[in-house]
Amino acid sequence: MLLYTSDYFLEHETGRHPESPERLRAVLAHLNKTGFAARCDRKPFGAVDLRTLMAVHHQEYVEAVRRFAAEGGGHLEADTVVSSKSYDVALHAAGAAVAATDTVLQVTDPRALCLVRPPGHHALANHAMGFCLFNNIAIAAQHAIDRHGLERVLVVDWDVHHGNGTQALFYDSPEVYFYSIHRWPFYPGTGAAEETGTGKGLGCTLNVPVTFGTSRAKYRDRFYKALEQAAEKCRPQLVLLSAGFDSHAQDPIGSLGLETEDFIPLTRAVVEVAQTHAGGKLVSILEGGYNVEALAECVGVHLEELLRTK
Ligand SMILES: [Zn+2]
Repeated sequence: MLLYTSDYFLEHETGRHPESPERLRAVLAHLNKTGFAARCDRKPFGAVDLRTLMAVHHQEYVEAVRRFAAEGGGHLEADTVVSSKSYDVALHAAGAAVAATDTVLQVTDPRALCLVRPPGHHALANHAMGFCLFNNIAIAAQHAIDRHGLERVLVVDWDVHHGNGTQALFYDSPEVYFYSIHRWPFYPGTGAAEETGTGKGLGCTLNVPVTFGTSRAKYRDRFYKALEQAAEKCRPQLVLLSAGFDSHAQDPIGSLGLETEDFIPLTRAVVEVAQTHAGGKLVSILEGGYNVEALAECVGVHLEELLRTK
């Protein structure tokens, strides 16, 4: 089990903002206290190289983010705050996802968790959105296709928000199957069940909108059934997970009523899909989760399950 994280991700300063360095600080303190972090292997990683980044994001957008940060930052769009170091920190977040993907595709214990900031799944090819600058998971998926020759990658997104950026980037792609379960109707407004892909990607997007008030048991049941449907259609060679924990009942932004222990069977189900189809190859990448105590506990049970499951 590999863990990709760094104190450097704390340097994406956002001021009074729910996506704060305190999130990751609490997670890392919890993983150190419980001993889970010490049970993981660590490997070095750096900034993503620009060619890999620009396989997903437009050059003008990348340059605009670099310049905005270099000039001191501020609000890049309504919800997304940038500080002077944010561009480079975001390059490292994508770099961690890419490095984890490289390792997982080459080793015998092919499972990795990337605890990074800023998150990525709302970021579009040419636009920041919803606290996200660069789409870490999309960059990793495209890298797996371009550099490792993969033909089928499954992206599972259980963040409470629809992963609109990831969906948009692969909407016409038959190589990346995107499965998202999310609160509905809710930010960012996309993710209706009718959105299933287009062109050669038709049928390679699966959205499961869940209304507020849905019971935990019903949520889990819908998650498993759709995951199985996605896995059988995709038959993935690699599974990537947008692991947001803002569906937790205590989350101040999301909240779909889930409890910490729900993330144990959800994690197990994703591991089982990776084992059945992809030789166990799984990279989990942190997205949302804004109650820092709940987030730390959720990441704790998620990592404990990743460590446990054989
Ligand atoms: Zn979210």
